[in-house]
Amino acid sequence: MERNEIIIDYSRDILAMTKALMAEVDIESELPNKNAKIILKPNLVVATTPDSGATTHIEIISGIIEFLQSKGYRNITIAEGSWVGDSTLRAFKVNNYMQFTKKYGVPLLDLKGDDYVTVNSHGVKMEISQTAMECDYLISLPVLKGHCQTAMTCALKNMKGILSDRSKRLFHSLGLHKPIAALNAVKCADLVVVDSICGDLDFEEGGNPVEANRMIVAKDSVLLDTYAMLMLGYSFDDVPYISLAEEYGVGYTDIKHARIRELHAPESVTGAQPTGQARQLARFTDQRSACSACYASLIHALKRLDQEGMLGLVRGKKICIGQEFQGHEMDIGVGKCCAGAKHGAKGCPPTASAIFNMLQEL
Ligand code: SF4
Repeated sequence: MERNEIIIDYSRDILAMTKALMAEVDIESELPNKNAKIILKPNLVVATTPDSGATTHIEIISGIIEFLQSKGYRNITIAEGSWVGDSTLRAFKVNNYMQFTKKYGVPLLDLKGDDYVTVNSHGVKMEISQTAMECDYLISLPVLKGHCQTAMTCALKNMKGILSDRSKRLFHSLGLHKPIAALNAVKCADLVVVDSICGDLDFEEGGNPVEANRMIVAKDSVLLDTYAMLMLGYSFDDVPYISLAEEYGVGYTDIKHARIRELHAPESVTGAQPTGQARQLARFTDQRSACSACYASLIHALKRLDQEGMLGLVRGKKICIGQEFQGHEMDIGVGKCCAGAKHGAKGCPPTASAIFNMLQEL
């Protein structure tokens, strides 16, 4: 797998999807030493289960451990530090992480209790977990979701879990964007495996999951976050830490020259059932056999429209989406299946950005 590559897959079989994506990475040529210290860094920001839209699905962790162990890697640790005010140990327990130690012999490390290395990066002083700093290969497992302060959270922001609680507080007082970029300039993931199964619409602590049944893999956290940003319908102005991270040499935002590959097409029929705030937005849709990734893009685009105060543009209207619309004509439609729409957003699935741009022009 090249650094300018992004690989995506869609499935409800998370374990199989994880292994298929890992097989594309060719980790052995990159990491020939089978005793290399590997850290798996999930997103356990709070002590809740993945169906809330906040935390990494455990099947992804199982899939990666089984894949790595089948290749002979033995020195694997799961390491995470929940946000200030929640207990990582509780998050491990709620998600039954003890099974990873019992079944695979993989230890768990609460980074809140780790030793820290103090670093100054781009004028931001921070305490970073010594174990994370000293590992040979860090695999980050973020959940792609919305965030009330930074619009979205994915690869770059997931690294915040390797900080001391004191540094996490400091990051918030500094407005998050610059410190997140500065942290990644010191310690960045070597590989990112994104859980975009049902990330939250708005909040990193979950509550409004939006089903997408998708996973994304890349080596360049900046490129990956650029792609994820477009998926959620945002621009660089909305998520300044992405461009800043590029400025600090973490990676590249050049999505036009990225090699984007899908292992399989989105799964055909899902019957996405949005909850919470997502359900409110769903009332503007006419969904008939839509793929979940497609539907997730539409919900995120409607959220962007709402944030911009333009939801009135679709009031009283229904945006068509789904395979049952193939061959039909309609006023507003989304994706290849709704090619007969007077106003349409292309793609299969389309990004939330493409849908948002189309809706703005109504
Ligand atoms: S355009 Fe149709 S086939 Fe493609 S993702 Fe959307 S609903 Fe699925």
